[in-house]
Amino acid sequence: MASIIAAEGPTIRISGAGSSPDLLSVAADADVRAVEVGSTGVPALEPLVTVTDGDETAFHTACSTAEMDTIVASVAAGSDVRAAEPDAVAEHDPDTARFPAVDLSGLGGDRRRMLGGAGWRRPTNPADHEAAGGFGDPGPDAVLAAGEAIHGRGWGDICQDTPLTPTWETVRDTGGDPAVVVNGHGNPADALLLASAPYDVLDGATAVADCVGAEAVIVYASTADERAVETVREAAAEHPEGSPAIDVVAGPAEYRAAEPTMALEAVEGNHRLEARIRPPGPESVGLHGQPTVLHTPRTLAQLSASLRDGDADATRAVTVQGDVAAPVTVELAASATLADAVDAVAVDGEFKAACVGGRFGGLTRDLDVSIAPEPLTDADLGTEGTVQILAADRCVLEFVGKRAQFAADENCGRCVPCREGTTQLAELLRDIYDGSYAPEDIEELVRVMDTSSICAFGVEAGRPARTALAEFEAELQAHADGTCPTDSCPETVEVT
Ligand code: SF4
Repeated sequence: MASIIAAEGPTIRISGAGSSPDLLSVAADADVRAVEVGSTGVPALEPLVTVTDGDETAFHTACSTAEMDTIVASVAAGSDVRAAEPDAVAEHDPDTARFPAVDLSGLGGDRRRMLGGAGWRRPTNPADHEAAGGFGDPGPDAVLAAGEAIHGRGWGDICQDTPLTPTWETVRDTGGDPAVVVNGHGNPADALLLASAPYDVLDGATAVADCVGAEAVIVYASTADERAVETVREAAAEHPEGSPAIDVVAGPAEYRAAEPTMALEAVEGNHRLEARIRPPGPESVGLHGQPTVLHTPRTLAQLSASLRDGDADATRAVTVQGDVAAPVTVELAASATLADAVDAVAVDGEFKAACVGGRFGGLTRDLDVSIAPEPLTDADLGTEGTVQILAADRCVLEFVGKRAQFAADENCGRCVPCREGTTQLAELLRDIYDGSYAPEDIEELVRVMDTSSICAFGVEAGRPARTALAEFEAELQAHADGTCPTDSCPETVEVT
């Protein structure tokens, strides 16, 4: 199948699952070229229909079947792309293989570097990817050089917030039969990449495999992300021959299953997921005892972009969700702030706070913090690449209490600080409803969990409570005094 990049004549792209079959059939009935592409990461704009002719693309957001009729009629009549009253028009290189820059909230076109193929190229079409400069053969030295400037992204990455190259060198030096695992479990941006731009992820993975001498790449994702699993499986089947073998494994839809060593347990087929004690880490003893690299799709797409473009102009993928009209995944420069990410959504009510950095992220009211890992860490926020918005009617005590209870229910049980600590933390937070507010006890407990748990689950599980103590002291104290300031607690606030 030929590529749609720089195709002759107008091309209609339909982005976003759901209504696409209807929209595709409208185009098919009129014998107008239309293709389905992956999601852009901005569902509020989808189905997003774009019409490209030469160096112009028109954007039609949340496109209905009736609007599609008009668009198709306009294309069939040979009209200008602007004739069907689009929401925006962008001018660009006629051969562009990436989503053009456009002023539509969330798309941030000029910064869509690793997400550039999402919503623009057919996810499982090798010709589209090849036309975008993919399937290159950079060679180990170039890969090692690129890896020095790139830090791993996400808590499922073996190089979380640290450079990639040293780990690759350890894997290479260890010998044996190395493996590369793409850990795409549980993060929205990772699922988006696997579903919308899988070849960008696989390019990064095969480059690492060549670099460390691995003959196998395993893509691991959650059973909950069906579209990601199906798409990357299809993409892997169409991958050019001569690359390492690519296998796709779906793991249980449990939060802890993204932890790197538990991911290995899942890939090996173990039903009981427990974190492995380190050292030795997976880079020495990993999948089936062999040295193993685990990177998230975000890390690998960043590597792929760096190898393709010859620079390390790092960006970050941030998913904004929670009390919002619709969640988005945006790609921003590392110098951007949390406020820039939140600007991409419509907050459902008045903004109160954000839980930054995943399930066990930190609570903050201050959005003037850079999304780069160091400033986030300095602010006691997480670097997982998610921002959960809490609107004004959201009770902080209820929020952090649920996080603590989740941690108590979902930890793997292997180590005492996490297993017992999360239970005690949930109880201490529940005691506040009974008038017993002991911030020193909570802080001490969280400190012990943080410093002595085996894996990141236990290290981070106390962060929502710890940051709530720092940011929402008065609200917690009010509960101990018998009042929920937001009047939203499901539990009766009783002071004994
Ligand atoms: S920190 Fe929690 S999840 Fe990790 S090994 Fe210990 S009990 Fe298991």
